[in-house]
Amino acid sequence: MRILIANDDGYLAPGLAALVRACEGLGDIDVIAPEQNASGTSNSLTLNRPLSAYTSANGFHYLNGTPSDCVHVALTGLFDRRPDLVLSGINQGANMGDDTLYSGTVAAAMEGFLFGIPAIAFSQVDKGWEHLDAAAKVARQVIEQVLAYPPSRRPFLLNVNIPNRVDAADLPMHVTRLGRRHASEPVIRQQNPRGETMYWIGPAGDARVAGEGTDFHATANGRVSITPLQIDLTDHVAVPDWQSWLAAPTTP
Ligand code: MN
Repeated sequence: MRILIANDDGYLAPGLAALVRACEGLGDIDVIAPEQNASGTSNSLTLNRPLSAYTSANGFHYLNGTPSDCVHVALTGLFDRRPDLVLSGINQGANMGDDTLYSGTVAAAMEGFLFGIPAIAFSQVDKGWEHLDAAAKVARQVIEQVLAYPPSRRPFLLNVNIPNRVDAADLPMHVTRLGRRHASEPVIRQQNPRGETMYWIGPAGDARVAGEGTDFHATANGRVSITPLQIDLTDHVAVPDWQSWLAAPTTP
């Protein structure tokens, strides 16, 4: 059993060490993570410069690139072994609803999934690392369940969000669908010392679609949320409509 562990908060993040500890005894573990915090980098790959990999004192590898770079490089040459499972996290902060499109945590797991390897992304709902040990226990439970009862759909990509609670390991787990968020808050303008205007991307909007069955609803009601993800962005329901639209006569 070989496990590849990555994250997007960087190789020094407490959540990464917690996830590695959670996997103790499960097999051979390789860790590769970004040199710096790369949250919100989605599935980006660095194509305009070479990447360098280093090894830290504790054996974790780190790369001056994105989360997707880390897993990509690990799977295509850095390590001469293919993992059976790719894990990402534990992230500082939720990755639910539309967040998943921006998330580097989900992207690192997704990179493994794209290579045909089962993958799981773990996130704590609130920032601050509170009750990280409890979140690690939840991660261990999910991983053990996957190993004991291998899912029939392979590969799979799971997105797990864990409430920051001391009793997180005792919470029920629910399989959910992604909710939706309102559009992001407005950009934040500031003046830099040269009198030029700077822009900070505003915070994510509040949950908009958060009813029963969604990830937002589950975590808000004291449950661990497990959302199976897929990659196909095609609007399959709309394809016939667009075919009709294309066949319509054009006006001169
Ligand atoms: Mn992050």
